[in-house]
Amino acid sequence: MSDLTKLSAAEIAGLVAGGETSAVEVTQAHLDRIAAVEDRVHAFLHVDTEGALAAARALDERRAAGAELGPLAGVPVAVKDVLTTKGVPTTVGSKILEGWRPPYDSTIVQRLRDAGTVMLGKTNMDEFAMGSSTEYSAYGPTHNPWDLSRIPGGSGGGSAAALAAYEAPLAIGSDTGGSIRQPGAVTGTVGAKPTYGGTSRYGLVAFSSSLDTPGPCARTVLDAALLHQVIGGHDPRDSTSIPQPVPDVVGAARLGATGDLTGVKLGVVTEFTGEGAEPGVMAAFRESVEALAKLGAEIVEISCPHFKYALPAYYLIAPSECSSNLARFDGVRFGLRVGDDGNRSLEEVMSLTREAGFGPEVKRRIMIGTYALSSGYYDAYYGQAQKVRTLITRDFTSAFEQVDALISPTTPFVAFPIGARTADPYQMYLADLFTIPTNLYGGPAISVPCGLSDGLPVGLQIMAPTMADDRMYRVAAALESTVGTFTPPAL
Ligand code: GLN
Repeated sequence: MSDLTKLSAAEIAGLVAGGETSAVEVTQAHLDRIAAVEDRVHAFLHVDTEGALAAARALDERRAAGAELGPLAGVPVAVKDVLTTKGVPTTVGSKILEGWRPPYDSTIVQRLRDAGTVMLGKTNMDEFAMGSSTEYSAYGPTHNPWDLSRIPGGSGGGSAAALAAYEAPLAIGSDTGGSIRQPGAVTGTVGAKPTYGGTSRYGLVAFSSSLDTPGPCARTVLDAALLHQVIGGHDPRDSTSIPQPVPDVVGAARLGATGDLTGVKLGVVTEFTGEGAEPGVMAAFRESVEALAKLGAEIVEISCPHFKYALPAYYLIAPSECSSNLARFDGVRFGLRVGDDGNRSLEEVMSLTREAGFGPEVKRRIMIGTYALSSGYYDAYYGQAQKVRTLITRDFTSAFEQVDALISPTTPFVAFPIGARTADPYQMYLADLFTIPTNLYGGPAISVPCGLSDGLPVGLQIMAPTMADDRMYRVAAALESTVGTFTPPAL
């Protein structure tokens, strides 16, 4: 493996800025690595070799001309296939968008380009970001670099696996119920879900619009913060974008790296430290809590009594919103069209297209959502779930009157074998038991590697109040400074 692929994004940017390497060299090293391991990992749905090298050359020319470079200039980044990329295929892991080349860039991708990063390609994901293992991708699963027979988490398993396999130093994910944090946890990488509205949804293919949050994935906390800073902030093209600057996440990560948490009060969520998690996960979590205490943090237990209703509420709200959002995939506007032979009605063509284009999990969600929103059931299901959402939000606000941040394991279990949970949807849904409350509330949360269980990575989740994203980076960086980073066996 070329050494360049082992460096952090901050280190790569430093070398490029100092002229010790070029963006082209860095990009080529990662493309070579992708060529060497992709047949085993399958993190990417599309590698944009030409586009990446062209962007790298352009950056090197700007540098040679003396242009001022941003903090991530010349650093390669892998982008989850849920974000539109101008002229570059965007499938959302679905057959229904196979071959679609969007006519525009999402805001996140535009900001990545403006920052001089180099987009390597688009990463694999569960279809329409629905899933926790990347097994629901219409293009085949991604394999966890820690153990190729296991899942890399989902829905953003491709982004997390690309990091763990050293195919990219940075990646973008999207988190509706845990799809950044859970893949981070099970691949030993860092995944942050920003405050809802803190990162733009413009050009993010919608799953559940009141929950969807794009965010950074990296191998170190500082790298995640640097990426967060580049992609975050107000976007007038997203009506729910918060018109405030990004909290100082980079400063907070640097502060945390000093390893001092004096004056920081952390609440361990009682409901998430009981029987729901594997013993190995709980052991790693408990050790990390002790480590945080040694760094000066005050640790208390906090009960959030409504968190136990988060999963059922989410599985009404998210499918409801998806049933509406996915109505646009009708065979007329984008991608796949089936049965348009001149003899069939528009409705028949739409129906055949959707039948052929959507996979079983997406269809299940559309059916659940349509039912939950139907007249006569609306109040009983969707309305009830929204009330639960309010109660969960109140749990968070009352907790944050007592502590600076909440902590829990990120996921109840480590990476499971491919195929182990596809037979029963509920078993798959359990993967997000601990991550979903944050989405319903809208606050930020990060997963940071905290240890191993049976040789597989365990993540610790830090949840902070809305627009206090900096807080979670401080705690995460402090933990990282004591437990270190985790390297999978060589591929
Ligand atoms: N696993 C959850 C789901 O299937 C969360 C997905 C996500 O965050 N995109 O809905």
